[in-house]
Amino acid sequence: MRRAEAEQISGRHCGSGGGLRRRAGRACALLGLLGLVVALPGGCGRGESAPRNLLLITVDTLRSDHLGAWGYGRGTSPAIDALAAGGVVFEDAYSHTSWTLPSLATLMTSLYTSSHGAWDFKSKLPESVTTLAEILTGRGYRSGAVVTHVFAGRKYGMHQGFVEFDEDLVVDGIRAHVQITSPRVTAKGLEWIRRRAGEEQPWFLWLHYFDPHGEYMEHPGISAAFGREEKRDLYDGEIAFTDRAIGSLLRGLEELGRAGDTVVVLTADHGEEFAEHGRTRHGKTLYEEVIRVPLIVRAPGLAPGRVQGAVPSVDLLPTLLELMDLPAPAGIEGASLVAAMEGAPLEARPVLGELRAMAFKDADSYRRGRWKVIREGWRQRDHLYDLETDPAEQVDLAAEHPDRLERMLREMDALRGAARGAASASPKPEQDLNLTPDELEGLRQLGYLEEEDKVEEQGK
Ligand SMILES: [Zn+2]
Repeated sequence: MRRAEAEQISGRHCGSGGGLRRRAGRACALLGLLGLVVALPGGCGRGESAPRNLLLITVDTLRSDHLGAWGYGRGTSPAIDALAAGGVVFEDAYSHTSWTLPSLATLMTSLYTSSHGAWDFKSKLPESVTTLAEILTGRGYRSGAVVTHVFAGRKYGMHQGFVEFDEDLVVDGIRAHVQITSPRVTAKGLEWIRRRAGEEQPWFLWLHYFDPHGEYMEHPGISAAFGREEKRDLYDGEIAFTDRAIGSLLRGLEELGRAGDTVVVLTADHGEEFAEHGRTRHGKTLYEEVIRVPLIVRAPGLAPGRVQGAVPSVDLLPTLLELMDLPAPAGIEGASLVAAMEGAPLEARPVLGELRAMAFKDADSYRRGRWKVIREGWRQRDHLYDLETDPAEQVDLAAEHPDRLERMLREMDALRGAARGAASASPKPEQDLNLTPDELEGLRQLGYLEEEDKVEEQGK
């Protein structure tokens, strides 16, 4: 983000953020500092009961349907389930893609892949975008992050706006796929929160957990309960291991006395495939198993509940800003979900999916209501699914409903076109990161550069 934009964001909108309607605003007090306008502790226009802090937990490769809170019966996620029981659960939350970099870039910017431009291994999140961390840091928040994946790191521009950015746990090379980091993410996160004791500033902490990502490792005392025969079993063990670390984090937050003034959000960058459509891992298709993600928001003063209906991750940033009673910047592509969290009917939200990585086949998807279309650009093939009667996307109805297919494709293209238009109006992404042979081998072992083509034709 450029300086002028920073000034624009931090200097405007006092009291205009909407905020939770139950709160009364208060006079806006601002300090001028080095040309930036920084909110006083307590925030701008925020009611006395507004939460001060934000803890954003992202878990790599976490399918929502492998969690108890989404009906999974294997006991993988007691800590996440407890968080869900005290918060608002979005039953049908979606990522906009099926691999890490563009997904996290969307979470942090509220821009679609076509707009933020970080869509392949050589593209970095451009300086020109405005990130959640930039907004909050500009508002006087103390910001920090602990990340565990190269795509969440500085190399790809994901550090933008963070005052403290810890990427010690990123293994940038061939050992990346076998690293185990969740307990260390928790330890680092709690240490960071502990250091905030006595500080006046509100804070924003982002923790990215990595362990459910393949290779699936076995964890003593945990994995055996889920079996070792199938990849899915090992994956469940990884989820249970990560869940334990998240449980420690949330207990620590409580013990440090910060649970009552902190918004806690848990989501994922994408899901995982287990040959439902002939492929494994992720980043290769846009079927439900790779784009459905958990989304839980627990906020002080917000009643627990469940929201049904598709919601896209591009909506997270404006939702969080409204919860913190802060205005959203102009130009974002998401919309706040706070009204639905407070019990209002969810306004139907279109869900766009995009896959643009060099090594993969390009594809787009679009869901509106019960219908979903997938366009596989690489082989000029369109699929149409009725998710209400066929949630596993096994029966392609494209030939049966040509008019509906065409309508859906038109809507999808319009949404993508608007995104591409926004991107062309801003500076080009910083392309051509130089990747070393070791880094490329690391990405290959993480499953991102496979030359595989194990597509089993679904035939319809
Ligand atoms: Zn990922």
